[in-house]
Amino acid sequence: MTGDGGSIPVERREFADEHGALPGGLPPDLYRRIFAASPVGIALSNERGLWVTANPAMCRLFGRTEAEMLGHSGAEFTHPDDLDMHRRAIEIIASTEGGVAHLDKRVLRPDGEVRWVSLTASHTTGPNGQVWTVSHAQDITDRKAAEQAAAESDADLAAVARVIRRVHSGADARDIVVQACRDIAAASYAALAEPQSDPPALRITACSDPSLVGLSVPLSATSASVTAFRTGKPAFFPVPEQDPLASPALLHATRSRSMYLVPIANEHGVSGLLVVGWRTQVPDLADRRAHAVTLLADHAGVALRQATLLGELQRLADTDQLTGVPNRRGWDEQLGHLLAMTRRSGEPLTVAMADLDHFKSFNDSHGHHAGDELLRQFTSAARAALRGGDLFARWGGEEFTIALPQCSAGNAGTVLNRIRTVAGSGQTCSIGYVVFDGNETAEALMDRADRALYAAKRAGRNTIIMA
Ligand code: GH3
Ligand code: MG
Ligand code: MG
Repeated sequence: MTGDGGSIPVERREFADEHGALPGGLPPDLYRRIFAASPVGIALSNERGLWVTANPAMCRLFGRTEAEMLGHSGAEFTHPDDLDMHRRAIEIIASTEGGVAHLDKRVLRPDGEVRWVSLTASHTTGPNGQVWTVSHAQDITDRKAAEQAAAESDADLAAVARVIRRVHSGADARDIVVQACRDIAAASYAALAEPQSDPPALRITACSDPSLVGLSVPLSATSASVTAFRTGKPAFFPVPEQDPLASPALLHATRSRSMYLVPIANEHGVSGLLVVGWRTQVPDLADRRAHAVTLLADHAGVALRQATLLGELQRLADTDQLTGVPNRRGWDEQLGHLLAMTRRSGEPLTVAMADLDHFKSFNDSHGHHAGDELLRQFTSAARAALRGGDLFARWGGEEFTIALPQCSAGNAGTVLNRIRTVAGSGQTCSIGYVVFDGNETAEALMDRADRALYAAKRAGRNTIIMA
């Protein structure tokens, strides 16, 4: 404090003493009372940036007595991350005539507490004409916290909305949910555990850490995860190794120091469990994190159900109704995967196209129903002649496609030759086949197989020809 109104020029003080008031103003004592009573922090700093006076509100803001503040600079009590901003504000008022600087910054209190203040600073003249600074400050910590909470909850909602959008776009819901969950909770990993019936267990079906997929806990166990799944109640374990319910095997496998288990429910009950784990200890789950994960779990229930329905729809769209094998769309999709795998592995792959011979006349003489039956019969007999990893699809009409991975051309010829006569009712088919050259596109490959098929037809039917 600069004493009793030290900054008011002497002549004016004498005038005030005599008349009880400054010309056109209020008694000087009243100015001091306003200064002292103001809920806004007011401080004056000298040309060296050191405080020469600070009102009680300013002292409260900084958590220090006036004696502790005077002679110090505001920079000393400013959060290190905001120092640049603090210095820039000082430059702004110094460089502009009548300059005013506004800034929101954090101040450090002696007890370590951090408060946000909104500060306005401008120049004033010191007692000997020096450039002094007058600052007004208000505590905006609560507003900042509310703004941050709103921004975080916006971000959480946006993250959840992104999850829903991506699930709608056909991406895999399980992976999307676990990635989003890990990000929102700032966790080391997030996993989705779903019940399986044989044997009855909770099994990790998706995880942001793929090495944990397949891990399971028997549903008969009295473990934390099974309890959360059965009761539908979320549970947080800051120190799970001290909890008798936490499965030591799961903790060991996941290397979790803290864990949060959130059941996923849909209209049919609990359908799964989100397992969120941290590999450093999380002493308490901030409301926001818990809220965000719970929100995600709520949506995950719908998303997973939706994904299951979409999957069923997709399967229907890719399946031929008459024979139950993949249709052309399903074939294109599966062949795409197979070609990608074969390009990597370099293993042989044979692709064939089969067309029933004189099927039109079979239809004409036996009727369309018998024709349908023959198509079904051919399908099941041909599939029986194939291995588990082989592909068989209805390309259209009475044409079928076959892919034989990891099968040499010689073996493929033997298998296909058997298929030539499996249709039954004395019917046969013609087959053209090719060995994938390791580079060509699916289209080029199918084109070659088609030409080989035509060659087989031209060669008199009931025959197989390799391109
Ligand atoms: P080719 O030996 O040259 O192949 O003679 P094709 O008679 O088999 O060939 P074409 O293309 O002349 O006739 C194909 C027939 O297959 C005509 C069509 O009615 C019949 N077909 C296509 N799809 C179906 C089906 O879903 N059910 C039945 N029953 N017949 C079908
Ligand atoms: Mg045909
Ligand atoms: Mg035909």
